[in-house]
Amino acid sequence: MKLEKLLREHFDFHQPEIKKLNGYDNFNYLIENDGKQYIFKTYGENTELLSLVHAENDVLLHLQSTPQDKYATPIPFSDGTLVKCLKIDGKMNICRMLTFLDGQLFGEATHSKKLFESLGTSLAQLDLQLRSTSNYVIKSKESEWILQHLLLNKKFVQDIPSAKDRSTISYFFQQFEENIVPLFPQLRKQIIHNDANEWNMLVTDGKISGIIDFGDLAHSFLIGELAITIAYTCYDKDDPLEWAGTILKAYHKVLPIQEIELSVLYYLVAARLCTSVCNSAHSKKINPENEYAYSSEKPIWRLINKWLTINPIAAENSFRKAVELPTEKPKTSDHLIRKRHETISPILSLSYTKPINMVRSAFQYMYDAHGNTYLDAYNNIPHVGHSHPKVVEAGQKQMAKLNTNTRYLYDELTAYAEKLLSRFPDSLNKVFFVNSGSAATDLAIRLAHAHTNHSKLMVMEHGYHGNTQIGTDISDYKFNHKKGQGQKDHVLKATIPDTYRGQHTKNDGSAGKLYAEEVLHQIKESESPIAAFISEPVVGCGGQVPLAKGYLKEVYPAIRKQGGVCISDEVQTGFGRLGDYFWGYEMHEVIPDIVIVGKPMGNGHPIGAVITTTKIAGSFEKGVEFFSSFGGNPVSCAVGLSVLNVIEEEELQKNAKEVGDYYHSLLRELQNEHECIGDVRGSGLFIGVEIVKNRETKEPDTKLANYIKNELRNRNILIGTDGPFDNVLKTKPPLCFSKENAEQVVSQLGEILRK
Ligand code: PMP
Repeated sequence: MKLEKLLREHFDFHQPEIKKLNGYDNFNYLIENDGKQYIFKTYGENTELLSLVHAENDVLLHLQSTPQDKYATPIPFSDGTLVKCLKIDGKMNICRMLTFLDGQLFGEATHSKKLFESLGTSLAQLDLQLRSTSNYVIKSKESEWILQHLLLNKKFVQDIPSAKDRSTISYFFQQFEENIVPLFPQLRKQIIHNDANEWNMLVTDGKISGIIDFGDLAHSFLIGELAITIAYTCYDKDDPLEWAGTILKAYHKVLPIQEIELSVLYYLVAARLCTSVCNSAHSKKINPENEYAYSSEKPIWRLINKWLTINPIAAENSFRKAVELPTEKPKTSDHLIRKRHETISPILSLSYTKPINMVRSAFQYMYDAHGNTYLDAYNNIPHVGHSHPKVVEAGQKQMAKLNTNTRYLYDELTAYAEKLLSRFPDSLNKVFFVNSGSAATDLAIRLAHAHTNHSKLMVMEHGYHGNTQIGTDISDYKFNHKKGQGQKDHVLKATIPDTYRGQHTKNDGSAGKLYAEEVLHQIKESESPIAAFISEPVVGCGGQVPLAKGYLKEVYPAIRKQGGVCISDEVQTGFGRLGDYFWGYEMHEVIPDIVIVGKPMGNGHPIGAVITTTKIAGSFEKGVEFFSSFGGNPVSCAVGLSVLNVIEEEELQKNAKEVGDYYHSLLRELQNEHECIGDVRGSGLFIGVEIVKNRETKEPDTKLANYIKNELRNRNILIGTDGPFDNVLKTKPPLCFSKENAEQVVSQLGEILRK
């Protein structure tokens, strides 16, 4: 039957005007008849849908008791029924007629405080009315769009094209599981509209005049009503919390919100945003033509990414303030420091003049107890990002399954060992797992002694390799400190081949050669052969100093020639951080005999390793058994494997290169403006900025560097200082760091320097 005929037969509409409207997955028609407007809704024939349409009509009828006319009225067919299954253009449809509500769509209206207040009030009035209705069909509904069923959306995550975006969504899903699911029983539930978005609300004279489309009605969290409306009405706002506060305040006046509801709101808003992008990604995949399905995707993504920069505590405090509830005062730093020192030695120093009480973190952001968000431009341990969902999940799952020591056979060990070794050249084909960079250093030195039977060790000036006795013995950074133990007899020290501050500055290979000559001289002068030469490719504690070009190419063969082995400490530089190179030794065009890895390897989970050749491992095997209680346990292996997978999936080495190059260029521009920036160096996202009093004399400015570090901290940016004069700003952020993040650091740094 043609629609015109249907309308004549069933509604007695003669020559109505019919306009087809867009729909999400069904068609609606705007009908004008005798000067009155209606919406004729059609749905594909489906028994479940039929009962839902009936349920929706029941609720709309319930709402007719309201003195306002904000909701559509179901119009009966000529036989009195409200819903019918009819054939239109040869296809069976569920059909129903509603009155049409006039007004401007919220999405197209001018947004004012008054409008947002009216939105809060209108939703509270609606929810108050919905409170007194119940419907078993709605109650039993399960859908991706109902907040308690959020995790049904997990199946759509794979449809999101970018791996980084997928991780952001998975992060919020995981936080929902951790923080919200346990509170389910305490959250009020009732029938709610469940989709008060910007296209489902009508505006007249700057106020809400209608709420339409009850097709998503759900028995869900009452606070979900607000979470959903906040998600869709605040996504384009510079300060979404302020606009959200206006809605909450007005809602609260009519229908008081409970404290626990405010405590879950941050994650529920995120949940709805995630639902939206998951479903649009899925729709895009199965029906690339349906523009309606993903028309609002971009701004939603913008809010999701902005949401990450908001500390959940700040959000909750803002929501509490809006409804005039007091906010919790966290303990002062002084109190926490005092408490810490009751049990913890002050030899474990705290960062910054004003230490920070951290409580949470997400990717490149860290959240403190006061509601501040810090941009982490400093931590290279959370390599793929703080609280990365894949790493967290890998650890959680394996911890719940099996954790044991290496004296049993389990697949996780070999799977990880194979994957890790696949990132090394063929000669480096044996791995020993331990729990830290220090333990790896310790073992590497033992391997060198066992293999060479020599005792002398050559170390790098300003180098640091660990906190064990061996680690301290070979770390100039420690033993040469004014409080240090001094240089042991078996330790030789190579001058750092620093082309900025050192004696030779031409970084075209000539300086590297000259620095290497000094090593060759020491080798010659040594009364006994050297067991090992150990160095980082870029000396972190030395102030992010890349070894001069060509240096290792001279030193490695000389060490080997006299019977020693070459160790590369990749604890800081490894796993793609340098952008162009997965391992730092690659930048020096050498292959070490032993590699030490740690820090980023487990994204914060304590894991380290020594990678070496079959031959060196063979020499070690002749000695006493090596055993580490925790090294290589299934949980560590699962975590380590997940880190490698994320680096690949999210192309983080490439990101380190692109963002690192950009970051570097911004810093160089700043250097042109400021005499105090003596040098900008490093590679990828491993950068040092040397602060000096005078560019010519290169006199270090320790005071200024420390001032900058603390001033950046006051501006919520985390950065460190290091180097022999503690005048080098160190920045080595999680590899998910973005170009915008780099701009933020450099612009703040610029402001501080201009001051
Ligand atoms: N080597 C280097 C280059 C390091 O930077 C560190 C830690 N700062 C270590 C080894 C020791 O690692 P860990 O702290 O895990 O023992």
